Amino acid sequence: MLVKKVVLNSRPGSNRVPDPGNFRLEETTLAPGLEEEEVLVRTLYLSVDPYMRCRMNEDSGAEYLTPWKLSESVDGGGVGVVQSSRHDAYREGDVVTSFTWPWQTHAVVKGSILQKVNPSLVDGHLSYFLGAVGMTGLTALLGMREKGHVIRGANQTLVVSGAAGACGSVAGQIGRLDGCSRVVGICGSEDKCKALVERLGFSGAINYRLQDVTAGLRENCPDGIDVYFDNVGGDVSDAVIAQMNEGGHVILCGQISQYNKDVPYPPPLSQETQENLRRKNITRERFMVLNYMSQAQDALCELGSLVTSGQLKVLETIENGIENMGVAFCSMMKGGNLGKQIVKISH
Ligand code: NDP
Repeated sequence: MLVKKVVLNSRPGSNRVPDPGNFRLEETTLAPGLEEEEVLVRTLYLSVDPYMRCRMNEDSGAEYLTPWKLSESVDGGGVGVVQSSRHDAYREGDVVTSFTWPWQTHAVVKGSILQKVNPSLVDGHLSYFLGAVGMTGLTALLGMREKGHVIRGANQTLVVSGAAGACGSVAGQIGRLDGCSRVVGICGSEDKCKALVERLGFSGAINYRLQDVTAGLRENCPDGIDVYFDNVGGDVSDAVIAQMNEGGHVILCGQISQYNKDVPYPPPLSQETQENLRRKNITRERFMVLNYMSQAQDALCELGSLVTSGQLKVLETIENGIENMGVAFCSMMKGGNLGKQIVKISH
C-alpha cells in the first residue's frame, strides 16, 4: 500500500522560529501482511503541540522527550481506525488513539502503543480525543485540580494565560465550573478575547498583543488574583504574579513564550518575580500531566460527560491534509489557532 508520511527535513536550530520547511512529505510503501501483535491503522486526525518544538532540537532538553531524527517519520498524538489487526485487543473498525502516532496516512504499529476509545464519549467528534477529551483536556482538568486549590464559595479569581488555546480554554472553564467567582483570560487577538467571553463564559479577557497587561489585570481583577494557570511564562506571567494575592497558587503548565529560546525548562524567573512569590507565600509548582496517568481514565470520562452535556464548550481549529502538518504546527506556535489545533488526515 502506498502511503504519505511526514519526516523531519531540518532542525530550526536553537533561538530560531520553526518553519514549515523543517518538515518534508514523502511517499512510502507498507509491506503487505502483519506480524503478530501488529495493527494496520488509517489516520483520521493528528495533533500538533508546543512540546514538539523541543523534539525538533538535537537535544530536546527534557529527559521524557526524545528528539525526532532527521529524515525519519515524525510522531505525536493521533486518532484513527483499525483496518486490520493481529493483536487480540483490536478488531477492524475500532477507534484507537496513541501519543506516538506516526505522521502517516496509514501505518503499521505495535498494538501496545494504541488505546481503544469509545466514540460515544465524544458524541462522535473523534478529534476531541486529541484535545478536550484527550491530553490537553486532561492537562487542564488535572492541573487545576492538583495544583490550583480552588475552593467553591471562596470568591477566588483565576487568571489563565494562553487562554484561547487547547489547555487554556479548558482550564478556564474548569475553574468556573469548580467555583472560581471570576475567570480572566489572557490571549493574543481580539477574536480570541471575544470567544472567551461570549462562547466560554470567561468574566473578562485581555489581548496581550494590544493591551497593557498590568492595567488590564487591574481592571478585570479588582480583588487581586488567587490562582494563575500559566501556559506562557515571560513578561505576561511576571505581570500576573505581580498582582497575585497572599497565599495564591501558580499552576506551572507551560512556558511557550520561551520555547524558541535556548533556555532550560522551566526558564529562570526575574529577581523581582522570585521575590514576589516568596514575599506573598505563593506556590508555583510544575505540573506534568504524564505524572498523573493513573487518574486519566476517570478524568477523561468526566471531560466527556461535561462536553456531551454542553457544560464544557470545545474550540478547535482544523487544518486539512497531511501535507499541511508543518504549516499547522508553525501556525499554532504563532497563535494561529483558536482552541485545539488539529489536522484532519482522512474521513
Ligand atoms: P495552545 O493551543 O495554547 O497553542 C499555543 C498558543 O500559545 C498559541 O495559540 C498562542 O496563542 C500562544 N503563544 C505563542 N507564543 C506566545 C508568546 N510568545 N506569548 C504568549 N503566548 C504565546 O497549545 P497547548 O494548549 O497545547 O499548550 C499550552 C501550554 O501548555 C504550552 O506551554 C504547553 O507546553 C503546555 N502543556 C503542558 C503540559 C503539561 O503536562 N505540563 C501538557 C500539554 C501542554 P496567542 O494567540 O494567545 O498568543
